[in-house]
Amino acid sequence: MSDRLAEPLKAVLGARTAGGLAKLGLVTVGDLVRHYPRRYDSPGTMTDIGSLRVGEHVTVMAQVRSAQVRSMRSRGGAMLEAVVTDGAASLQLTFFAKRAGVLRMHEDKLRAGRTGLFTGTVGEYRGRRQLTHPDYLVVGVDAADEGEALVEASRPIPIYPASAAVPTWRIGRSVRTVLDPLTEADVPDPLPETLREERDLPTLLEALRLVHTPDDEPAYRRGRERLRFEEAFVLQTALARRRAAHAELTAVPRLARPGGLLDAVDARLPFPLTGAQVEVGREIAADLDRDRPMLRLLQGDVGAGKTVVALRAMAQVIDAGGQAALLAPTEVLAAQHARSLRDLLGPLADGGMLTGTENATRVALLTGSLGATAKRQALAEAASGAAGIVVGTHALLSEHVQFADLGLVVVDEQHRFGVEQRDALRERGARPPHTLVMTATPIPRTVAMTVFGDLETSVLGERPAGRVDVVTHVVPTDNEAWLARAWARAREEIDAGRRVYVVCPRIDADEPESAEADAPGVDDVVAPADAAPDTPLASVVATVEELAQRPELAGVAIGVMHGRLAPDDKDAAMDRFASGQTPLLVSTTVIEVGVDVREATMMVVLDAERFGISQLHQLRGRVGRSDLPSLCLLISRAEPGTTSHERLQALADTSDGFVLAEKDLELRREGDVLGASQSGGRSSLRLLRAVRDAALIDEARGLAVAVVDADPSLALHPHLGAAVAAWLDPEREAFLERG
Ligand code: ADP
Ligand code: MG
Repeated sequence: MSDRLAEPLKAVLGARTAGGLAKLGLVTVGDLVRHYPRRYDSPGTMTDIGSLRVGEHVTVMAQVRSAQVRSMRSRGGAMLEAVVTDGAASLQLTFFAKRAGVLRMHEDKLRAGRTGLFTGTVGEYRGRRQLTHPDYLVVGVDAADEGEALVEASRPIPIYPASAAVPTWRIGRSVRTVLDPLTEADVPDPLPETLREERDLPTLLEALRLVHTPDDEPAYRRGRERLRFEEAFVLQTALARRRAAHAELTAVPRLARPGGLLDAVDARLPFPLTGAQVEVGREIAADLDRDRPMLRLLQGDVGAGKTVVALRAMAQVIDAGGQAALLAPTEVLAAQHARSLRDLLGPLADGGMLTGTENATRVALLTGSLGATAKRQALAEAASGAAGIVVGTHALLSEHVQFADLGLVVVDEQHRFGVEQRDALRERGARPPHTLVMTATPIPRTVAMTVFGDLETSVLGERPAGRVDVVTHVVPTDNEAWLARAWARAREEIDAGRRVYVVCPRIDADEPESAEADAPGVDDVVAPADAAPDTPLASVVATVEELAQRPELAGVAIGVMHGRLAPDDKDAAMDRFASGQTPLLVSTTVIEVGVDVREATMMVVLDAERFGISQLHQLRGRVGRSDLPSLCLLISRAEPGTTSHERLQALADTSDGFVLAEKDLELRREGDVLGASQSGGRSSLRLLRAVRDAALIDEARGLAVAVVDADPSLALHPHLGAAVAAWLDPEREAFLERG
């Protein structure tokens, strides 16, 4: 049997069509049949031309009288005008294109004398009724006869994710070309037959026909339902297999040792632990005691105090003779972590030195940009075991980094790392180390279960006592009086010895706004701003100049921070800000995660509508890190009533990260945390949505676990096995975890 689904589209559709589809990420027959319609247009009501009313969505049967391509001198580009008639009245059809060539194919089909069915919304131009870019079927070309054309025209019209180069109708036609000849044998179904029968689901091939060429609405609903279930089931099977494989592993238990480093750390802490920190600490301690590797996700809203929890876990491992690695997503954050761990440890971080006390260890910082000498020293401390704690970025994953006895890996801000990176570190030792993954991005339960389904989860639900909520306001960009007041307020904070962040969406005018290399946002899917595109977005460079001119800020030293700075300059910029030398810092989102400056009490986010909800929540977490009252101003051009404005208002209304995460999901129409069509044809999650499909995902999880329990290697379910293997493709997992 030849593998029809693996066949390149080029062989089936020709190079030209295949070339266009390749730009959408569709390369094989399998890719194309999995490119589902985004929605369906309803067929228009059949009517005659004489009774057409403007604004109606209609279908008319008519005969082509003329069709002509001409170029438009005024606007550039080309247009095709056709006139059709039903014998009594006539109607104009209009198509526009950049180049005349694109219109030739319409001209070729719409030959005078041919009959067709034309569907579209009635418009009016210079007193004449017209349809612009109608869908149409020509009798003798798209349908054998009028009867067949009528049947065709009454079907829902699939609308595909398309591009200018490949319009939806061409995708539709290509899909039909490849789908028509396929047989059941060509399309292996990952769903076990018993499951399909129990739930009365169509086969995969049937489902594909239902979504691509439905007779009516119930048909495509039934098809989508089955495909959605398949996504949930394959995903959950993949996760169940990961869990099962993980359960086979053994790890070195790292038993707590009374009177050791952990006790010394606890005795030194300048504050009492919160109840949540104690509770989670117990869970982790118990995990570390076991001979199975811990794989735990620690969720805690910004400022919840995750670092201390991590430090206590690391101390327990060090007490048991092991080492801990702390992985941070950026160099800034790695340096910051090393600094705050050394602060918390005090003389306990001076192992091997005169100032070091009993039980003392060392914290080594290892980043890609270290000088040769510093790097050699850090590597030596990691390899000899002198450093109980090694902090770094992904440079830690490099094979040159040797540990004496790696017992625990802590991954901070999980969403920046993929599973395969996590695994790379985990495979370093003779036996896999325990792993603690920390995330400040609150993940709704359903998503945690779906995306991180192979992890145990702990939640730091309580923030340290005495914290006040950050007061948040949405401020319209064009209100100069408010802006002046905002900068005056910044001045007051600075005069009182505090710090102010100003966050911009880009570095300079040339910078495309998402080019911040150091910080791929949590939600790269930033909603299209409902704002006028004519004013350029605030940039760090322009903002620094502007603020230097503002009378309210006269004499204030301004610092700069962004991803294009050299690592040393970043550190220096953070130091100057933390110490108050430059109490106002203009930055991109590099400061988004983890940066901890207790005196920071005010944040001004420019063009705030350009950021996602959870990203703004992260940013806002940089202020309000002590008991000082703090303020966050979201400067925005989003009009009240738009989704963008609603997102910002949600931030003003609550500081509960979980509420915001749910709100975020709700407001994103296409593509939520589970990802969606953005990655083109490669993603397996097309229809599944974490919040809407929570019940389905839950159910699929139970079914998947049962299948994996009974048949761990999936030997009895080869098609499911193949689908799962495609899932565990590292590229895909990285995508998934980026969320
Ligand atoms: P996050 O969870 O966002 O990583 P951090 O670990 O950076 O939070 O902690 C935020 C701040 O709160 C730090 O300055 C830390 O020292 C402080 N902190 C942590 N735990 C407590 C506590 N129990 N009581 C008071 N302050 C705490
Ligand atoms: Mg942190």
